[in-house]
Amino acid sequence: MLIVDQIQQANTDATIQIAGAGPSGLAAAITLSRAGRRVVVHEAQREVGYRFQGDLQGLENWSTELDVVEMLQEAGLATDFTSTPCREGIAFDAWDKPYEIKSPVPLFYLVERGPGAASLDTALLRQAVGLGVEVRFNSRLEQVGGAGILAIGPKAADAIAVGYHFDTTMEDGFWVICDDELAPKGYAYLLVMNGKGTVKSCMFSGFKQEKLYVERTVSAFQKLVGLEMQNPRAHGGVGNFHIPSSAYGGRHPLVGEQAGIQDTLWGFGMRLAITSGILAARSLLESKNYDAFWHQKLRPQLQASVVNRVIYSMLGNRGYRWFLLRQLAGKTDIRRFLRGIYAPSWWHRALLPWAQRRYQSSRKDSSCNHVDCTCVWCRCGRSTDAMDERS
Ligand SMILES: Cc1cc2nc3c(=O)[nH]c(=O)nc-3n(C[C@H](O)[C@H](O)[C@H](O)COP(=O)(O)OP(=O)(O)OC[C@H]3O[C@@H](n4cnc5c(N)ncnc54)[C@H](O)[C@@H]3O)c2cc1C
Repeated sequence: MLIVDQIQQANTDATIQIAGAGPSGLAAAITLSRAGRRVVVHEAQREVGYRFQGDLQGLENWSTELDVVEMLQEAGLATDFTSTPCREGIAFDAWDKPYEIKSPVPLFYLVERGPGAASLDTALLRQAVGLGVEVRFNSRLEQVGGAGILAIGPKAADAIAVGYHFDTTMEDGFWVICDDELAPKGYAYLLVMNGKGTVKSCMFSGFKQEKLYVERTVSAFQKLVGLEMQNPRAHGGVGNFHIPSSAYGGRHPLVGEQAGIQDTLWGFGMRLAITSGILAARSLLESKNYDAFWHQKLRPQLQASVVNRVIYSMLGNRGYRWFLLRQLAGKTDIRRFLRGIYAPSWWHRALLPWAQRRYQSSRKDSSCNHVDCTCVWCRCGRSTDAMDERS
């Protein structure tokens, strides 16, 4: 059956099942429900945002001229979560030299993730439920038979962010350290908002030594900015960056990190997850091909982020210092500068074939080619491979 036929099938009065109550799944649910569709969201865990538990994250505000909060409002999504607009922070190089990061308008919004009353996840959940979406917790879907969207998050680790959540008397702010001894090919970060903090090593290699990198990250922030942690709780998670040729799993659109839709450079995946959820919902509402939607709206940015990642991975500590000193230091509008890096350009296009040869997601595609496959996380291809090998 052609995908278009499947989409048209979905455009009926049938209930739409969504697997996963993360930002991508809830954004899809809200968009569909606002258009009058009946939606049931299945969440495997007992509460929303379970894997984040109060994590502080940055909702990036540099990839478009339009402010991300306005973007959410224009898309009809709730913005009544607690957020702190961040215009100024400090980045350090491996030699402890500080560089001011400044932007006249928010570079990103600090938000809380998880089941807390003021979190982004709770705001989206509240809106969805208010619109009549049925959310079933402790409901882990393995198959989706009828119309549906699959939004179950990352399934492989291309990067990990590990560290602590804690209470603190520190002032709100953000600090970053670019040092491979703390976060190989990534960055160490400290975020503080309203007496709560998150300190993490976000690493793109060297996962086996994560404990060592976390210890070093904590020590470095204690030395550089007087990190003060009360009641520290260990926390970590993975990120999956992978550009699929098609983001359909069988007949269903895949959104957010389940599709691999992420910012391969630094892991700012929330905004992309939300956008992909909205696009998938629109594709069902308008009987259009979801691949055409995200290819047009997201793929060039995803490809640019792969090129950026490969270049960043090659920098090393001296390269980060060069980047901070020559590219960031003294700039009064870092937001504009970052948009220049994130926006797809001729040099991204020119370097893409080279970058794609160098960047490999750890995710192995074991999904099958059956367009009628109903699996939420398809591994059918694995048994087919095994059979092929045996025969
Ligand atoms: C430690 C850490 C820090 C991060 N920091 C940032 C940041 O600062 N800025 C940023 O933009 N991004 C950040 N990210 C990335 C961002 O959190 C993700 O990109 C985003 O949450 C992806 O949303 P999603 O909806 O695709 O998946 P998720 O948020 O993972 O949601 C998927 C949901 O599906 C549920 N689920 C899984 N399997 C099933 C099933 N079979 N049936 C039903 N439900 C299921 C899961 O329980 C989960 O609730 C960070 C990620 C991590 C791990």
